[in-house]
Amino acid sequence: MRTLQVDLGERSYPIYIGGGLLGRAGEFFEQHGLAKKSPVLIVTDDHVAPLYLDTVTKSLSEQGYRVVSKVVKAGEKSKSLEVFEDVMTAAIEGGLDRHSAVVALGGGVVGDLAGFVAASYMRGVSFVQMPTTILAHDSSVGGKVAVNHRLAKNMIGAFHQPKMVLYDVDSLQTLPIREVRAGLSEMVKHGLIWNAAFADWCRQHTADLLALDPEALGYGLTQGCSIKAQVVSVDEREQGLRAILNLGHTLGHALEAIGGYGEFLHGEAISIGMAAAAKLAVNRGRDLSIYEETVSVLKGFGLPTAMPQQHDEHAIIAAMMHDKKFKEQQLVFVLPVEIGKVEIVADVTLDEVRRVIAELKE
Ligand code: NAD
Ligand code: MG
Repeated sequence: MRTLQVDLGERSYPIYIGGGLLGRAGEFFEQHGLAKKSPVLIVTDDHVAPLYLDTVTKSLSEQGYRVVSKVVKAGEKSKSLEVFEDVMTAAIEGGLDRHSAVVALGGGVVGDLAGFVAASYMRGVSFVQMPTTILAHDSSVGGKVAVNHRLAKNMIGAFHQPKMVLYDVDSLQTLPIREVRAGLSEMVKHGLIWNAAFADWCRQHTADLLALDPEALGYGLTQGCSIKAQVVSVDEREQGLRAILNLGHTLGHALEAIGGYGEFLHGEAISIGMAAAAKLAVNRGRDLSIYEETVSVLKGFGLPTAMPQQHDEHAIIAAMMHDKKFKEQQLVFVLPVEIGKVEIVADVTLDEVRRVIAELKE
């Protein structure tokens, strides 16, 4: 087992990464002093529940925890205010009190949804992340929790750090390959924004990662979580540095929105977004190799890097204008300076974006 620490003063917490951890959930709860008298709510989805809910419930129950659970429908559409209310209902009916913990057992959707419930229930209760996707190495660390609005993603949310992240890499073996690829997109992102050597390691270990080799996965997830933890420790609430984590997200979020949160997986959308950001940087004078290398590593993972033909530029731009990153007719973009280093640029014009959309359609 590997252990990382997210340093946030009194809100600091550990990330445990290793095999067999879900079956030891009760042990970790006890070790972290989570209250036994108050019910624990496990939030999961209907793909994950049949696979891992019993394991976690059993482990917690054996340590003397009372467990209630809420299973939501799998998919991005569950990150909605309607489902949020359903989970709240489950929390109230389950008798959760101020000392209760809410557990997110699943991918980023469940993590963001359950986290926002934990942040809001009785103005905030304990939260534990048990990520079961590769993508969730990103979403489970850093305390951003949210649901989507029909018009824009992650519009309604909070900052609410977990008490711990329990990352059982064995659980990743059941992931569908499309989800594996999408999750690796965020792993590559962590290399591209922070550490060229790690980006290169991802490229060299593409086959091992796609084959879910435990050693490669353990290392890659630890590096990814570690980069995320370092960034968040410097800037918990996105006053500055943290925005670099949004590489690929300005355009990526727009693609997710126009696809109705169902057409593109988050990781796929940001893969296209990262290719677009690299092209935009090249159009602004950076070296062409940045774009070529970005596209090459993403394509290696079977990720999309071209703009979808079926959506026109107007729809994509309109969706970007609803984004939190749109201010005064200009867009904030994270742009690569070189592989492993990015800058935040606040003056990207709509014309520049139109040009990149056109270029990436060819
Ligand atoms: P997800 O939670 O929808 O999971 C992907 C799919 O895999 C789902 O169908 C799920 O049921 C299934 N699944 C999960 N674990 C499984 C397993 N072990 N075996 C088999 N199937 C499994 O999606 P995701 O890609 O994990 O997360 C995407 C979400 O994360 C997006 O909503 C995105 O906005 C959010 N996100 C949040 C942050 C943050 O900082 N809070 C960061 C990045 C992404
Ligand atoms: Mg993301």
